[in-house]
Amino acid sequence: MSLQYYTHGRRDQMKVALTFDDGPNPPRTDRVMEILDSRGARGTFFVLGKWVERWPQAFLRIAQKGHCVGNHSHLHEAHLGDFDRAEAVIGNLLGRPTRFLRAHYFNFFTCLYSPVAMSREMKIVDADVNPADYAKSDPQAIIDATLNDPALAGGSIIDLHDGREFDDDARRLASPLPMLEALPAIVDGLQARGFELVGLDEMELVEPIEWQPDERGTFASPEVRAAIHGLGGKAD
Ligand SMILES: [Zn+2]
Repeated sequence: MSLQYYTHGRRDQMKVALTFDDGPNPPRTDRVMEILDSRGARGTFFVLGKWVERWPQAFLRIAQKGHCVGNHSHLHEAHLGDFDRAEAVIGNLLGRPTRFLRAHYFNFFTCLYSPVAMSREMKIVDADVNPADYAKSDPQAIIDATLNDPALAGGSIIDLHDGREFDDDARRLASPLPMLEALPAIVDGLQARGFELVGLDEMELVEPIEWQPDERGTFASPEVRAAIHGLGGKAD
């Protein structure tokens, strides 16, 4: 078994896709959209099913404002069936299936056993610009890591995060999200270079990477590896 995933679109077009993982996270996701909308930019939001269930209105605002949404699993853990569970929640609200899926923590093993992930219509999308915003507290460091990434070019897919892994609401709302302070300068900087900021549904994804099981399987939990082993895959 194998799967393909994409890290970028056509290099001969000046399109760049900003993607935001782990939301919805109201009101921060709304702030992200304000920044994008005020600059004529579109984004793609890879949401978690559990947060969509908790904040359905926040999720629906993403779709209503015309941004692109993708499936980023339900629990953000390496459980078999996690993409399928998320798709049921997301697709039910969206009224149609999602077309883009992002595996978390390089969790491609569970994709192999997900009908949703492996369906012909679904594109599994990674990124070629990874500023690791979740690990940076200084907005300027996020701006620099994005705009100065040597991989940044036409067709780039940039991975940012608008969500947080806190179940507790007070903790979630109190946790800093420096990406929000960085985002206006990131959008302005990209547009100043002539890039059009598009949703993944406006980008022709090319040159998929053929994924083969590798050492990154250690990201999967022991339970998942055991389950995959039982299914005949090779997770170890
Ligand atoms: Zn994630």
